[in-house]
Amino acid sequence: MLQPYMPVITLIGELTILVILSILVLGCILLILTLYAIRSGNILFPKFMRAGLLFLEGMMRSMFRLFGFEDSDFFRIIVTLQNTLNRKAFMSIPVTERVVFMPHCLRSNACPAHLHDEGLKCRECGLCKVGEGKRLLELLGYRVFIIPGSSFIKRMIKRYRPRAIIGIGCLLEVKEGIEMSGQYNIIAMGVVNTSDGCVETSADWDQVFKTAILGIAPDKIPEELKKYIE
Ligand code: SF4
Repeated sequence: MLQPYMPVITLIGELTILVILSILVLGCILLILTLYAIRSGNILFPKFMRAGLLFLEGMMRSMFRLFGFEDSDFFRIIVTLQNTLNRKAFMSIPVTERVVFMPHCLRSNACPAHLHDEGLKCRECGLCKVGEGKRLLELLGYRVFIIPGSSFIKRMIKRYRPRAIIGIGCLLEVKEGIEMSGQYNIIAMGVVNTSDGCVETSADWDQVFKTAILGIAPDKIPEELKKYIE
């Protein structure tokens, strides 16, 4: 009974095997490129890598685990890729059209500031580094938001319509934030915290400032931030 359909069934079988083999080969290429990027800090073919890693995210995470890597290594490379790809476009956007979002978990436990409709109103009291970070970023011309959650981000995006964002936060927040920015057609640069948790987390301030000065003329950079010019 099956005989008239045999060529079709065979063709489907062969095509399926071809697709599976192609995916496996692609996965191996991506794995090699990713391992190279992690070891050397150099990213080859970033567009191809980003597309491939996002398209095959589930499988690539499994392959990573197989080689002893954590999901966090995978997410970190995605963030690095996004930053690499967005860097040039970010530099071309005037600072007046950029905003910074940082999580309110960076603040001190004894923070005297209160929440208002645009996030935490930092008093620059000196109990944590948020105040000084915010001051320097504002000196550069940024609008800075210290926010308790992603609903604030969406609200501020609608209110101020920035063209570029620096997102500070834990690894997963930054990865998801960059993806969300893509949906709004906003260029995002992520800076991953050096310590995670719910309270008194630490931002990678050096990286924040290195990112913040991108594309800004040296004479417009405050003296305190000149050391970050690369
Ligand atoms: S510097 Fe700002 S965020 Fe930090 S504790 Fe003081 S008021 Fe709160």
